[in-house]
Amino acid sequence: MAIHHHRGDLPDGLELVNNVAVDTETMGLLPGRDRLCLVQLSAGDGDCHMVQFSPAAYNAPRLKAVFSDPAVTKLFHFARFDIAVISKYLEVVCQPVYCTKIASRLVRTYTDRHGLKDLCRELLGVEIAKQQQSSDWGNSELSPEQLQYAAGDVLYLHRLRERLDEMLDREGRSELAAECFRFLPHRAALDLEGWAETDIFSH
Ligand code: MN
Repeated sequence: MAIHHHRGDLPDGLELVNNVAVDTETMGLLPGRDRLCLVQLSAGDGDCHMVQFSPAAYNAPRLKAVFSDPAVTKLFHFARFDIAVISKYLEVVCQPVYCTKIASRLVRTYTDRHGLKDLCRELLGVEIAKQQQSSDWGNSELSPEQLQYAAGDVLYLHRLRERLDEMLDREGRSELAAECFRFLPHRAALDLEGWAETDIFSH
């Protein structure tokens, strides 16, 4: 795996033409309070490109072009959070998207364990580490351990999608999954508008 670290935006001329795995690291779990610090991307080729942001410096036209490119599907694990953060700080609607957590919930109905670590273990036989998850991502100098961890979160999403797509197809839920993915940017918008804790579809 090669890690490419960039500041502020992707470099000029970088082609991310495949579907791209995406993850973000933030100062915490509340998009209104906790700023976006890092965006990690991988085209599934083992390389990870990460873009680190200074506070209030979110002018990243090349990264935003990837997020809004209709020809590039953005693969996430728990897309709802990342899409909200990306929308809030980069002011771009991420579309089209695929979420391995939604796919897992729709087919792995035999378990309630849908974390990235659980999916990697069961579907790929890979153990990933989660120790750096709650570290200081706002630090302008990230440690080698943080960079390794951050890259690890986008490394397996393409392979997970392949496995989950097989299961969705087998169980006849591919269309339902596709519609859920289409709704995700709207679900993220509801979160940002104040309905994060409310299921507007419930009685
Ligand atoms: Mn992560």
